[in-house]
Amino acid sequence: MNYKTIEMGMNKKIALVAHDNKKRDLIEWAKFNRDLLAHHRVYATGTTGAVLERELEFPITRLESGPLGGDQQIGSKIVEGDIDFLIFFWDPLEPQPHDPDVKALLRMAVVWNIPIACDRSSADFIISSPLMDKTYQRIVPDYAEYRNRPVPGASAPLIPSPAAAPSPLPAKK
Ligand code: PGA
Repeated sequence: MNYKTIEMGMNKKIALVAHDNKKRDLIEWAKFNRDLLAHHRVYATGTTGAVLERELEFPITRLESGPLGGDQQIGSKIVEGDIDFLIFFWDPLEPQPHDPDVKALLRMAVVWNIPIACDRSSADFIISSPLMDKTYQRIVPDYAEYRNRPVPGASAPLIPSPAAAPSPLPAKK
């Protein structure tokens, strides 16, 4: 498989999500790292975003609440190159009504090779990385081969429309 790169700018686009039992963890972590986060652009699911905005006192792009589609909105932004990394404190001890969305979001992060932190120590390592304040070439598989795969019943390889085949994504800073 071939690979392509997508540039992450110096100012990162960070998505923050926490399930209810994990919101306290995320709030404490975000308050501790407030000044670092303030340099970047922060997105969050609805309730997480509302509490963080109050605590951090800087603007956060708030999407829908997670169980109402917010996780899927973040997944969609990852696909479009609008999220550079994901801090997602999901709850390992409580079933969630939107479990399929949680799985889908984590899957999209891996498909597009964006860093994910699902607990505080991983989040500490990511936020303190020297790469946070540099541009970074994120390597992603060139999915052209997958898009053009033979499909049973189709007489010729499919040529996807540009809208359906956004790679390589434009560098958004
Ligand atoms: P919330 O959603 O921030 O609206 O609580 C989080 C989630 O469950 O994904």
